Amino acid sequence: MNVWKKCWLLLVLLAFAMMAQLAAFAPSAYARSMLRVGVHTLGDTGMAKEATERVQDGSGNFYSRETDYMQAIANYAGMEITFVPDTWEGCRTRLMAGTIDVVLGVMPGGPDMQGLVFSRLPVGWQRTPEGTPPLPQAPDYHAHPLYFAVRPGNEALLHKLDVAADRLTENRPGFLTTLEQVYAEHGRRFGLRLTPEEQSYLKLHPVIPIVVVAREHPFAYVDDDGTFQGTLRVFVDRIEQDLGVKVSIIPVPDFDAADKELQSGRAQVLLDIGWDLGWAEDRGLWLTAPFYVSNYTAVTRRKGAGEHPIVASVDNRTTDRVLRQRYADDQIRIYPTVVDCLKAVESGEADVTFLRQEAAQYNIYQGDFPDLVTDGTVAFSLEMASGVREDVPMELLTVLDKEIAYLGPETITNVAARHDKRMEDERSLRSVFYAYPQYFMIGAVVTLVLIFLFVAHYILSRRAHISEMQALLDEDRATNRPNRSWFLREADALVAALPEEASKLSVVVIGVQRTDIFISTYGRDTLISFLQHLADVLAKADWVRRVATHGSVGEVVFLAKTEDLAALKSQLHVTFKHYEFATVGGMLVRVPLTAGISPIAGKTPDGMQMLKVSEAMARADFAMHEAKDVLVYDDKMLAEAHLTSRMESLQEAALGREEFEIWYQPKYDLVTKRCIGAEALVRWKSEELGFLPPGKFIALFESNGFISNLDFYNLEHVMQFQRDCRAKGLPVVPISVNQSRIHMQEQGYLRKMSALVGKYTTDGIELELTETAFAFTGAEQREHSIAVVAALHGLGFKIDMDDFGSGYSDLSLLNYLPLDVMKIDRSLLLASEGSERMRAVLKKMVELGHMLGMEVICEGIETEAQEDLLMDCGCEYGQGYLYGRPMPRQEFEEFLQAHA
Ligand code: C2E
Ligand code: MG
Ligand code: MG
Repeated sequence: MNVWKKCWLLLVLLAFAMMAQLAAFAPSAYARSMLRVGVHTLGDTGMAKEATERVQDGSGNFYSRETDYMQAIANYAGMEITFVPDTWEGCRTRLMAGTIDVVLGVMPGGPDMQGLVFSRLPVGWQRTPEGTPPLPQAPDYHAHPLYFAVRPGNEALLHKLDVAADRLTENRPGFLTTLEQVYAEHGRRFGLRLTPEEQSYLKLHPVIPIVVVAREHPFAYVDDDGTFQGTLRVFVDRIEQDLGVKVSIIPVPDFDAADKELQSGRAQVLLDIGWDLGWAEDRGLWLTAPFYVSNYTAVTRRKGAGEHPIVASVDNRTTDRVLRQRYADDQIRIYPTVVDCLKAVESGEADVTFLRQEAAQYNIYQGDFPDLVTDGTVAFSLEMASGVREDVPMELLTVLDKEIAYLGPETITNVAARHDKRMEDERSLRSVFYAYPQYFMIGAVVTLVLIFLFVAHYILSRRAHISEMQALLDEDRATNRPNRSWFLREADALVAALPEEASKLSVVVIGVQRTDIFISTYGRDTLISFLQHLADVLAKADWVRRVATHGSVGEVVFLAKTEDLAALKSQLHVTFKHYEFATVGGMLVRVPLTAGISPIAGKTPDGMQMLKVSEAMARADFAMHEAKDVLVYDDKMLAEAHLTSRMESLQEAALGREEFEIWYQPKYDLVTKRCIGAEALVRWKSEELGFLPPGKFIALFESNGFISNLDFYNLEHVMQFQRDCRAKGLPVVPISVNQSRIHMQEQGYLRKMSALVGKYTTDGIELELTETAFAFTGAEQREHSIAVVAALHGLGFKIDMDDFGSGYSDLSLLNYLPLDVMKIDRSLLLASEGSERMRAVLKKMVELGHMLGMEVICEGIETEAQEDLLMDCGCEYGQGYLYGRPMPRQEFEEFLQAHA
């Protein structure tokens, strides 16, 4: 390499090094320009050190509200800042000379201020401390906002700084208040110290009239008693307490009204306005220091506000002021109260409203606006200060300021926080629901599940209880088998479900006859276990359905398939044959059973119809009681039963009314064909029931004992008849009177008979007794009957053996009983008509009677052939339609005259 080449290389390297050097020294595109700010210490005003609010430490740093604020504005303007302390005059001179750009803490309108260009926003405010002359820049003001200013011609810088201040306010609305609070500490450190002037002012004016816009829960409102309440109330209370004055509150609904109160002089102070110096100045108010920062939050509907929201605002110039910076006028709607704003958002008239955090929470937590929400974040903050009328002596403003400084920023903030807390406690259920829907859902589900479980448990236990009760109700307590009410229900259900099959069913009732006797003989347990067994057997039979028992009356009831009634009857007979036995002490005893049957398809007044099971059961039950063994119900039975019961109830009265009439049937001598006597036969000519032959009522009266009365009645009438015949001179023939078998065992029978005999006579009176009167059950009874017959003989009566040969005739009877007349039953006569053998028997009977010294008469002779037959047999007397039917007394008297 030659020297030239080396020189070129050196030159190039040198050029690079120079360029690098130049680049390093060239001003950077990002270099921040410097803002030189003149700060006058006001030392020449004689202010106390602690009140200057501007301090400078040893290293040249400034600490004050205004310098901090200016620092922040410079930051927002993207400028470095440097403070240049000097006297006011010094600062003004520097500014005009251009060695500083801005002078801080100046008041427009003051002396020496001409020519300066002032900032749009204030950077703080200045008030004359007590005992000092007014500020030279503002001799007419004791307190005034402080601005910063530039020299004329430097408006571009001022604009830049104004824009930065706007951005700062927008971004950090509470910034200035924070500075206030920081520097208010100076005041608090020294306590509330009032000057003698201030003290005497308060003494002279012990009542401070204060107007307040009271329209917002919980910030400031009037309670139900008309008392001013809320967060601001605390401020008022503290004023009264600390300053020893009385505050007379004038609550008003809006700022216009507040203005009126101030202008009229009724109020001296407006308690709460935004820290807005311009507004205050327009109304001739001095502002106190801010005493509280209100944080505003947005409230929207749940789905939030859209792109171009309509904003609801309380007629509140402070929020309005902020909102108008953010939204176009046509987006803002003004409402008189917070609640109206919320309603507007809820209804969709507006999309968002900005409220104090505590007001928003209060209203939403109360639950009145369930569709509205707030996320609680601070949308912007506003400082709250009081306004004092300018015409009121300065002392009022200064004591309020001192009070505010003394309270410090926390006092009222804490109260607001306490309000929030209380509000949480007062939350309505509805608001809690909206706050915690998930817990409510869980709660609701749990409650529903619990209710469901409770209801299910209730229903199940009720059902169990009912079925327990039903089981109890359906069970025959004696037999532990289903009972009759169960049977009725089950059978009805079966009939309803299968009417076709049901039409071929019958209700059958099987009963133990005379259960009372059975129980007293074998015990109730025997009856019950018999019924259980019978019920169990029947329940297994394929022709049986639904078996129930009625233990207390000894009955079993069931449904039986009925192809035809005869088959069912024989089925029952077979059952009886197999099961009519009970075991007693290892021995079998027969249980006397009867059964009644009623088909379900039965006759009704409207023809053949399906009966109700209860009806069929009643019929079967009835038939069972009528039955000797097995009986199918018949309507006639019921008619008879009805007649029987009517007869029973009428019997006594009938006797009294002489409704019973004696008719007489002649007895004839078969040979002479003359009337040789008569039989007295009773008839009942009932007023209600009509003419009744004895066959209708004798058995009943025998069963109920009334026959005793009737027989004596008849006997007496017959005796009277005989006496009358004698008295009238009519022919007198023996008349036989029927005597019931029950007289044989009747107490006092003989006594009554002998009484009758004493009254009348036994002459021409015979007593007819049937064989059944002598159906002895033991030797004792037999002896008794023999004794009775002997006694009757003794009284002079003849005794006839009625219906002889009608049943099983105990011929030995004739041996025991010395009877007078043998009355051969008609059945024997009829039997003899067709049978040689019976005729032989009849003949022997007649002979037997004669042999025993009895007269023999045959009853029921209707034909002459019968008469011939009897005469062939040697029978001498006869009674029957052939000679004469039973006839009334009058007729018989005539008959006697013709035939005796
Ligand atoms: P009984 O004592 O055997 O009376 C005879 C019955 O045969 C009477 O029936 C009579 O009318 C009827 N008779 C008479 N001749 C003929 C005939 O040729 N052919 C037919 N088929 N029947 C004939 P009645 O009057 O109906 O009396 C029936 C029964 O009532 C009597 O049977 C008697 O046992 C009872 N009875 C009637 N009056 C009394 C009374 O005052 N006291 C009592 N305890 N029983 C009486
Ligand atoms: Mg008779
Ligand atoms: Mg007879």
